[in-house]
Amino acid sequence: MKSNDLLATAIYNFQHSAKRLCLSAKLYDNMISPKEKIECCINPILSDGRHKKITTYVVRHNDTLGPAKGGIRMAESVTLDDINGLAMEMTWKTALIGVPFGGGKAGIACDPNGLNADDKEIIIRSFTRGLMRHIGPEIYVPAPDMGTNEKDMGHLKDCLSYSSGASITRGCFVTGKPVILGGIIGRREATGNGVAYTTAAACKKCGIDLTGAKVAVQGFGNVGSVAAGMLAKMGAVVIAVSDITGAVYDSQGLDIDRLYAHAAAAGGVKGFDRGSVLAPAELLELPCDILVPAAAQSQINESNAGRVKAKIIAEGANAPTTPQADEILGSKHCFVIPDILCNAGGVFVSYLEYTQETQREQMTLDEVQRRLIDRMQSKFEHVYQYAQNKKISMRQAAMDIAVQTVADGLVYRGFHP
Ligand code: NAD
Repeated sequence: MKSNDLLATAIYNFQHSAKRLCLSAKLYDNMISPKEKIECCINPILSDGRHKKITTYVVRHNDTLGPAKGGIRMAESVTLDDINGLAMEMTWKTALIGVPFGGGKAGIACDPNGLNADDKEIIIRSFTRGLMRHIGPEIYVPAPDMGTNEKDMGHLKDCLSYSSGASITRGCFVTGKPVILGGIIGRREATGNGVAYTTAAACKKCGIDLTGAKVAVQGFGNVGSVAAGMLAKMGAVVIAVSDITGAVYDSQGLDIDRLYAHAAAAGGVKGFDRGSVLAPAELLELPCDILVPAAAQSQINESNAGRVKAKIIAEGANAPTTPQADEILGSKHCFVIPDILCNAGGVFVSYLEYTQETQREQMTLDEVQRRLIDRMQSKFEHVYQYAQNKKISMRQAAMDIAVQTVADGLVYRGFHP
């Protein structure tokens, strides 16, 4: 298995779940392969007049429970296999968190770092035009993921409505939009806040006092920065944060608001005037109570898992832990909150955005937050009890609940076209 192989991790986790659940061959075959894999080449003309050839992808892994849902990843190295693996994860995540969506994902193989705002908008619009027949409230509903943000979702919505000669789209074609364009208040923070809520629940089960607990966070984008801020608000001490530019460390705790302001101005955490500089790889191995990987996949793998000292790992990122690392962490009794549970707050609030837009309603921040906390806590408890009863890990329990839910949906739908 390649060290960063998202698809192999997704397939491994599914196959082991299928075995535990004694899934029939019919169900297994139906669930392992994506329903649709699209690769589309776009050639936008950038602001300096250059043509840039970019490969883009949309994968609808499974839509048994509803339209495919999942973010758009923009990264130079992203592949169709990566998007397939991430789409498969979304199938289990939406089933586990209990929203009527299937699993999908999109990719734009282009480095967003260093792109000026005009070029990013041109690329997002070109992607949207190239793939618009695969996007829709009953087909695939995108959202932000690594390398994309709410502004990009605003451009996507505008491109779709402009193309149909209207000021809005008919129904919800994209979530994670700016609030002023029909986005929902609290969506941008939902994934990171959900990470913090499940972490607090895990601390209770592990007998760790969150007040004063030491936390290290890898990745300081949408998920990592919000999770760090919320955990600090809950009383934890965030001792280390890294991003693609570097890592900073302070055993007494970093001021997350100040670090956020610095990163926004400087383009990353590097150069923060408090604490000391840390080698980014060291962050994962720091003595701490809680580690939050909130960046790329496969960061915790067989080469470093043995040296991870955290008692709780809260997977803000998708597939940050390889199956080999999972075994090593399990043997050390490390409590892993699996990605499909830990970072599902984003897709849950995306569902609220979808219903809000469909019904032309508006929800208050209080309502969104209350529903998010309730859902994250109740799903955490469900997975925890299932894991205890079956004597399996949290990841195995989350996967088994999700795979069984999709299997039940398939049986109710029937297998004939
Ligand atoms: P983002 O683009 O906003 O931020 C990514 C962050 O990770 C940046 O700070 C970047 O510098 C950093 N980073 C990238 N590679 C790194 C490395 N090797 N070491 C340290 N830092 C690194 O992306 P995001 O939306 O915060 O997504 C982060 C992760 O969370 C991804 O795995 C994504 O799939 C997952 N996720 C995101 C959402 C969401 O709502 N945005 C929902 C569920 C899961």
